[in-house]
Amino acid sequence: MFFINLINNKKIKFKIIFLFVIILILPLTVLTIISLNRTYTVAENNINRDLTHATKLFRDSLEDLIDSLKLRAKTLVDFEIDSLAINDFPAKETLPIFESELIKSDLDYIALVEDRSYAKLQVGKLANETLRHIIFPAICHSSLGVNIYVINDEPWIFASAMVTKVKTTRPQHLVFAQKIKNTFADKLKGITDAEYSIYYNNKKLITTQMDVYARRKTGNIVDKPELDKGEFLLQGKPYSFIHDKALPNRISDDIKLEIALPNSSYSELGNKMQLDFLIFGALGLLLALITGTILSMNIAKPINELAESTSKVSSGDMEISNTINREDEIGILSKNFTEMVKNIKEEKEQKESRMKELNTLFEISNAVNLFTNSEELLKFILSHAIEILQAERGSIMLLDDQTDELVIKVATGGRYRAISSNPIKLGAGVCGKVAFDGIGIICNEGFKDSRFKNFGSIMPVEDINSLICAPLKFKEGTIGVINIVNKKNNQLFNKNDLSLLTLIGSQAAVTIENNKLYELSITDGMTHLFVHRYFQARLSEELLRARRYGLNLSLIMIDIDNFKKFNDTYGHQTGDLVIQKVASCIKETVRTAIDIPCRYGGEEMCIILPETKSEEAFMTAERVRKNIASLSVTHSSGELHITVSIGVASYPLHAKDKESLIKASDKAMYDSKQAGKNQTTIASEIASS
Ligand code: GH3
Ligand code: MG
Ligand code: MG
Repeated sequence: MFFINLINNKKIKFKIIFLFVIILILPLTVLTIISLNRTYTVAENNINRDLTHATKLFRDSLEDLIDSLKLRAKTLVDFEIDSLAINDFPAKETLPIFESELIKSDLDYIALVEDRSYAKLQVGKLANETLRHIIFPAICHSSLGVNIYVINDEPWIFASAMVTKVKTTRPQHLVFAQKIKNTFADKLKGITDAEYSIYYNNKKLITTQMDVYARRKTGNIVDKPELDKGEFLLQGKPYSFIHDKALPNRISDDIKLEIALPNSSYSELGNKMQLDFLIFGALGLLLALITGTILSMNIAKPINELAESTSKVSSGDMEISNTINREDEIGILSKNFTEMVKNIKEEKEQKESRMKELNTLFEISNAVNLFTNSEELLKFILSHAIEILQAERGSIMLLDDQTDELVIKVATGGRYRAISSNPIKLGAGVCGKVAFDGIGIICNEGFKDSRFKNFGSIMPVEDINSLICAPLKFKEGTIGVINIVNKKNNQLFNKNDLSLLTLIGSQAAVTIENNKLYELSITDGMTHLFVHRYFQARLSEELLRARRYGLNLSLIMIDIDNFKKFNDTYGHQTGDLVIQKVASCIKETVRTAIDIPCRYGGEEMCIILPETKSEEAFMTAERVRKNIASLSVTHSSGELHITVSIGVASYPLHAKDKESLIKASDKAMYDSKQAGKNQTTIASEIASS
C-alpha cells in the first residue's frame, strides 16, 4: 500500500527516488539470495561429505583393528598354543607366551577359555562377571568370533580363536581383548579434523573433545543426543554433527558414535556474505537515495518549477522569470515557455492598454453627459489624460475667442495649482506653437528645450523634465492645447504617447464644444441660471431619485417685490440689471454643483435643493432673501434697493408630486406677498392620509 501510494504520488521526485531504490536494491537482493543459497548448499554438501568420510574412516579403522586382533589370536593359536593343548596348557609354558604376546601386540587381556565360560588361564586385568556369563559365551560361539563390549565404562574389543588341536567335549578358545583408547580416536582426529566420541547408555566413554584447559570433556557436548544430526557451538565455533549407531557388525545398539566437524568454510563464507550484503545493501540504499535525490533535483526540481510556473500563468499571473539556465531539453523547454509567456504578456498588456485608451476616449466623449460645469469637464478630461500617459501632472489651455491668446483653464498636480494667469500668445513657446500649428510636440528635455518659454509663472519651472503638448482640434480649428508633464519613473514620452494624446485632444475638443452648446441650451442668456425647461426636467429627475431612495427634496420659489413699479420707475434696462444681480446673488449663495438655481420665468426664480429638508431650505431661503435685500444698484437717482418674497415647499412633507410641489412653493411665496413681502414662508403640510 505504501509503495502504491508512493508511485501514485504526484511528485515526480519521489517516483525517481523510489525507482532508483527498486533498480538498485531489487537485483542486489535477488543476487545475494541466490549466492547465499548456493554457498549454503555447497557448505552443506561439503560437511555431509566430510562427516560421512570421517565416519567411514572411524569404522574402517576399528574394523582393521578388530581384524588384526582376530588374525593375531588365530596366529598365536596356530603356531604356539595349539601344540600346548596336548599337555592341557601347562601354565608354566603357556603364561609366558601370553605375557610376551600381551606386550608385543599391545593387548590388555589374554585368556584361555574353556567351555566358552571358564577362563583357565589369563593375563591382564579384566575381572568381570559379564565375561563368564555373557561375553565368553558370545565371542566363543564361532571360531572367529569378535565383539565390542563395555566393561567398567570402557569399550573393549574381543577376538577369539578356537583351539582345534585336541578335540574335547569342552571346547577351548584363546580370547584376546584390547581397550579402545582415546589415542585411537585422537589419531583419526589428526587425519579428519573431526571430534569423535563414543557413548554407552548416553555416557561418554571415549572422546577427542578437549575443554579450554586441554582436559577431555566428559559431559555431553551436543545438548540433544537423541538427534541424528545437527549443529552446535563448540568454543564459539559452529560444528555440524551426526550420531551413528552403526559400529562394525552392529555389535551393540547401545554404543553410539558421535562425530562432529567444524562447519565448512563455505558456511562461514555464507555468513560473511550475509553481513556483507547487509552492509552493501545499506550502502546501496544510501547510494540509491543520494543518486535519486541528485537526479530528482536535476530533473524533477526544474520540472516542478516549470509546472508551478504554468500553474501561475494559467491562473493569470504572468510575472514569471526563467530561473532554469541549462542547455538540455529542460532548459530549452523553460526558455521557450518563458519566451511564450513574455509574448502573451506583451500582447495582453498591449490589449489592456488599447482597452484603456479606448475606455478613456469613450469616457471623455461620454463626459458631456456627466458634467454641466465646463471646469469639471476639463478636469475630468485632464485627469484621464494624465493617468493614461502615466505622467505626474498637466493642464488644459483654451484659446480666447476675442484675444486669440491661450488661457489656462484647469491644471492638476504639484506646483501647477499656483499657475500664472499670464495669457500666452499664439505661436509663443511650446503650447503657443502647438496651438498655432495644430501639431503636437514632444519635449523630452523639459524646461531646457529651446522651444520652452517661461511665461512669467510665479513658480520655478526647473522641475519640468519632460513635456508633451497636443492640440484640442475641433473641425478645422484649434480651440486650445493639453499639456502633460513629467512621465513617471523618469521615462520619456514617445510617439505613441503623442498620437494617443492627439486623439484624446480631438475627442476632448469635440466634448468641450458639445458641452458649450449644451450649456448654452440649458442656460438662460440674461441671468446664467438654468432655463425653465431644464428646471422641469431636473425637478422630475430629483423627485424620482428622492422617491426611490427615501430622500427629502425642497423647492424655493423667489419673486421680486413690486417689480412692475420698479420697471415703470427706473426703466426696463435697470430692471434687467436688477434681475441679473439677483440671479448672481442666488448663484453665489447656494451650494455649487448641488443646488440647482433656475429662472422660472420673468422676474421669478427658483432653486431645487436635493436631499434637503424644509427647515434647511428655509435657512437657505432666508440667506438668499437677506443677501438680495443688501444689494444695491447704482442709478442716476441714487442707490436703489430691492426685496424678494420667498416660498419654500418640500417633498414629501408638503407635496408628493412635481406639480403639487411647484404649486405649494408658489402658494407659500404668495403667502409671503400677502403677509407684507420681503419674507420667507414655508408651505403648509398636507394632511396625512
Ligand atoms: P408683486 O410684488 O406682487 O410681485 O408685484 P409686482 O409688480 O412685481 O407684480 P408681478 O410680479 O406680477 O409683476 C411682474 C412684472 O415684472 C411684469 C413685468 O413688467 C416685469 N418683468 C417681467 N420680466 C421682466 C424682464 O425680463 N425685464 C424687466 N425689466 N421686467 C420684467
Ligand atoms: Mg412675478
Ligand atoms: Mg413680482
